Amino acid sequence: MNVMELFETMEYGPAPEAANTVQAWLKEHERFGLFIENQWVEPASGQYMESTNPANGKALVQVASASSADVDVAVAAARKAFKAWSKTPDHVRARYMYALARQIQKHARFLSVLESLDNGKSIRETRDIDIPLVARHFYYHAGWAQLMGRELPGYEPVGVVGQIIPWNFPLLMLAWKIAPAIAMGNTVVLKPARYTPLTALKFAEIVQEAGLPAGVINIVTGEASQVGDALVKHPDVNKIAFTGSTEVGRSIRRSTAGSGKKLSLELGGKSPFIVFDDADLDSVVEGVVDAIWFNQGQVCCAGSRLLVQENVAERLLNKLRARMEKLRVGDPLDKGIDIGAIVSPSQLQEIECLVAQGEAEGAEKWQPSWACPSEGSFFPPTLFTNVSPASSIVQVEIFGPVLVAMTFRTPAEAVQLANNTRYGLAASIWSDNINLALDIAPKIQAGSIWINCTNVFDASSGFGGYRESGYGREGGKEGLYEYVHPSWETSQIPEKSQRTRPQGVGENEEVANTSEEAEFALPAIDRTPKLFIGGKQVRPDSGYSLGVKGADGKPLGEVGEGNRKDVRNAVEAAHAASKWASATPHNRAQILYYIAENLAVREGEFARRIMQQTGRGRKEALQEVHATLSRLFSYAAWTDKFEGVIHRPPMRGVTLAMHEPIGVMGVVAPDEYPLLGFISLVAPTIAMGNTVVAIPSPTAPLSATDCYQIFETSDLPAGVVNIVTGEREGLAKVLAEHEDVDALWYFGSARGAKMVEESSASNMKRTWVNYGRQRDWLDPIQGEGEEFLRASVQVKNIWVPYGE
Ligand code: NDP
Repeated sequence: MNVMELFETMEYGPAPEAANTVQAWLKEHERFGLFIENQWVEPASGQYMESTNPANGKALVQVASASSADVDVAVAAARKAFKAWSKTPDHVRARYMYALARQIQKHARFLSVLESLDNGKSIRETRDIDIPLVARHFYYHAGWAQLMGRELPGYEPVGVVGQIIPWNFPLLMLAWKIAPAIAMGNTVVLKPARYTPLTALKFAEIVQEAGLPAGVINIVTGEASQVGDALVKHPDVNKIAFTGSTEVGRSIRRSTAGSGKKLSLELGGKSPFIVFDDADLDSVVEGVVDAIWFNQGQVCCAGSRLLVQENVAERLLNKLRARMEKLRVGDPLDKGIDIGAIVSPSQLQEIECLVAQGEAEGAEKWQPSWACPSEGSFFPPTLFTNVSPASSIVQVEIFGPVLVAMTFRTPAEAVQLANNTRYGLAASIWSDNINLALDIAPKIQAGSIWINCTNVFDASSGFGGYRESGYGREGGKEGLYEYVHPSWETSQIPEKSQRTRPQGVGENEEVANTSEEAEFALPAIDRTPKLFIGGKQVRPDSGYSLGVKGADGKPLGEVGEGNRKDVRNAVEAAHAASKWASATPHNRAQILYYIAENLAVREGEFARRIMQQTGRGRKEALQEVHATLSRLFSYAAWTDKFEGVIHRPPMRGVTLAMHEPIGVMGVVAPDEYPLLGFISLVAPTIAMGNTVVAIPSPTAPLSATDCYQIFETSDLPAGVVNIVTGEREGLAKVLAEHEDVDALWYFGSARGAKMVEESSASNMKRTWVNYGRQRDWLDPIQGEGEEFLRASVQVKNIWVPYGE
């Protein structure tokens, strides 16, 4: 073809990126061992596996296939290194991280080519997106390493961290995991995905070049059933950070339940891409290309559900089909390619199956007229119309270049459709009316909201899910808390039997009522507290009551015995009170102050109740009431001060990191400090706009039931706090398994904590448990503060670009 003819057709010429340097490196290694203590070691089994190029199915190199014995060695190396690394001064850790960032930049082109070869993604994306973001993550977290002592006082690293990453962004996921972990002084054992281990192995060389102390970063390749499983179950691993499918995330939640391991999960998604009729449709088309054809659609936050306002739907879909016709699928190392190869034949098969299922269910499929390369794993960009909200291709994460389109008429309908998924990772909103876009953003249940843009990421802005998309954030300051714990926990108070009388206090103090009652010996008027649901005191469904004994072993009263049905009613009432989330922080603060005011009026009565239940002396009981009043004041104060932040990522725009309530939360109160323990859990959750179902201590429930009248007289809207008394573990299990409870805090026994973590996996609700360890609730460091506030919110990042 001559130049004239080229001008006629405007066909793309080939623009191949040279791979010879990378190929030479692969050849030189032939096969890779495991990276443990900065050394390359043979796997114990002597087994190796192949990594292949998805674009042509050819083998690239052999990598070690580790077994659990190798994981033991790697964890031991990380543990050994933790001793010194956790004590390494902030500035020294920062220097190492800076060195890693620099090395990554110096090897940027090499890493881009290697990533394309191993994963099949286009060189355009690895070069312009993946690798620059990897460097940015290490730079950004070098900054947090430098500032840790000043910015996170009272926190320390958790220890040895097991990290399991997927194949869709191999080096980027490594950076998201390793950078915050080592910045905070942890050491790491990382398992790359089976299909894409190579950039992690190149990174291991970079670790050597940067001179990181041996054992801080260990990289163990191998099968999930061997390496992944062994890491998850390893008793000397303190935290698991996982990115991958919701199913595997759920099984990890179950296997780590009760172990005390910290856990962060970044799981699947089915993110909506919402287009209003006033949006610039040409920009929208390019947005859709970035949303669903970026990385072949193998993106957890891919905008895979196009929701378009009915009156512009046909116009947009026509423009989109025209654009799809022009997309180019082919050799990932060709710089003019839009869509590369699918990571593996089995992933391709998965996509083909789901597409066939979509067609069988009656959806209309549209694909461009051209054909994909016949060699390697390729799939064309695909558009489905005529789908219903319940069809499988609308609900299931396809993880491929497949878009489903639906229409809506009103903004409310758009929100309803957008939230009609079990996931909640991200959403894009397209409209030229910024008021409308910013009104919709808080209504979408997702961790990242992109306004007139999509799939933008930055280390400064945390990323993570709502609902079954997992919990925990990666990036931003909030991401650091996944890798630290409060220092006081290191000298934890051991699990002990409840309701112990503090030594030498209160033995001789009077617990009886006033002298008036004693004088006339009047029989008390029976007062059996019912349950508190939807702002009303209601009888328990069971019709049974439970006796409550005082510290002296004598009957003190009775409370209702709540059951599954009562919990269900309470959850329903809590959902009905969801407007609480949109009450202004000022308003919520006023109500917390009002609760304190009404409690203060009755402090003597509440102190007496504490004395009766715990056997403590009057002075101590009053101390608990006063601490409760102070706690209510603290959370009233924080209500309008624990706010989000504004990030300035490197783009023309801002990211608004908003603290949003999680929704309906269950709280299971501790036995120690019947009033303070109860209020310490309820107050932060409602301060942040959640509604609550609370289970008071079963041995000392009367301080909580005495609060009914306080709540009733303090303008607290009905249903914001619901209280169900009864057997703790049974009620906690119902809450843990309830699909409509979004988070659960549990402060009871170690066994109960395990049960809560295990049972919560059904809808991946966030949990916070004490593993049977007591806290000193009087201590403001242990009993209140940001730890509680952070567990009461989820961070939503709203990306708002600006400029014409
Ligand atoms: P997985 O969730 O199976 O794999 C992710 C990582 O976890 C890999 O390193 C994998 O190892 C490891 N792993 C798998 N099973 C276990 C286990 N039981 N214990 C510990 N580690 C384990 O994802 P797949 O790669 O199988 O992809 C399947 C589907 O998951 C995709 O089609 C997509 O829908 C979704 N997915 C979502 C991602 C996201 O970012 N949210 C990323 C990747 C996939 P190995 O590679 O050796 O199997």
